[in-house]
Amino acid sequence: MNPQTTSQVPALELRDLRTEFRVGGQWYAAARDVSLKVDRNETLAVVGESGSGKSVTALSILRLLPEGATRHGAGQILLDGEDLTVLSEKQMAKLRGKEIAMIFQEPMTSLNPTMTVGDQIAEAIQQHRRLSGKEARRLALEVLDEVKIPGAAKRFDHYPHQFSGGMRQRVMIAMALACKPRVLLADEPTTALDVTIQAQILSLLSELKSAHGMAVVFITHNLGVVAQIADRVAVMYAGEVVEIADVKTLFAKPTHPYTEALLRAMPRMDADSDTLEPIPGGVPAITAMPKGCAFAPRCRLKEARCETERPKLTRIGDQHEVRCVVRAEQFEA
Ligand code: ADP
Ligand code: MG
Repeated sequence: MNPQTTSQVPALELRDLRTEFRVGGQWYAAARDVSLKVDRNETLAVVGESGSGKSVTALSILRLLPEGATRHGAGQILLDGEDLTVLSEKQMAKLRGKEIAMIFQEPMTSLNPTMTVGDQIAEAIQQHRRLSGKEARRLALEVLDEVKIPGAAKRFDHYPHQFSGGMRQRVMIAMALACKPRVLLADEPTTALDVTIQAQILSLLSELKSAHGMAVVFITHNLGVVAQIADRVAVMYAGEVVEIADVKTLFAKPTHPYTEALLRAMPRMDADSDTLEPIPGGVPAITAMPKGCAFAPRCRLKEARCETERPKLTRIGDQHEVRCVVRAEQFEA
């Protein structure tokens, strides 16, 4: 890469992000001290069980959570070093879809059933760029081609219900890419698809990441998907990042007891399915967070101090951090 275009500033960085919901007249944090970064041309997977705060984190970045019931509690959201938390709603609207785009699990919630897919993509382009209808349609067709929809020119005038699940997800990706965003947030985009189609979408996303030099945040509850797509991984639990590492390290040296438990619960090609160990218990509700370590009630390594001390994210190796006092101690010199 040309050194002049290599910047030290991550494409997206969260610093101690805290997002709160109002429940019964009180505020409770659903994302707590979330710090992570993702560079251009990199995929960061965010993994954790349902209710871990993955979606809340992604929606906070784009300020898409219901106003009134939600508030930004603390921290910064830096896009190429610029803090988005201080922007006005009008400035955020300009940026949404253009600089940071998002794709979801269920494309039908984001696609308009009454409009052809070509027109929808062209319209999305025109929202952010002053182009003629003709020019926007040309770019829309280009991007439909790029996501490898067979016979894109013909499919341009079809409606979303005329597409299969996998093809609809490609249309969603095309729409997200239409304005060439710097950052793509993907929230469980392949969860509803069967394994073969899922693998195709994952490799398409990897290709597009490289072709556009995008920073991708890929949210999933599935470690198998992480292995296929991620460069680095952040494991979330109860609104916190509990471990962060490059993908090789995470699978070779999982260190947080929660990461280990997730791995033991993961179906593998090379092992019997009866060696699968589901994690007993569940993710605590935001209104009932344990005082110390949030994972302590389910943890094999729990000690008395874990129930009173909230662990900090601690560096234990090159780019490897873990939020566990017991484990972090084992790495101290
Ligand atoms: P994930 O995406 O990891 O499955 P979420 O980010 O959706 O989890 O949720 C994190 C936590 O925030 C959960 O405990 C969830 O119940 C809570 N939560 C999400 N949305 C709301 C809301 N609108 N009001 C109150 N709590 C919410
Ligand atoms: Mg979610």
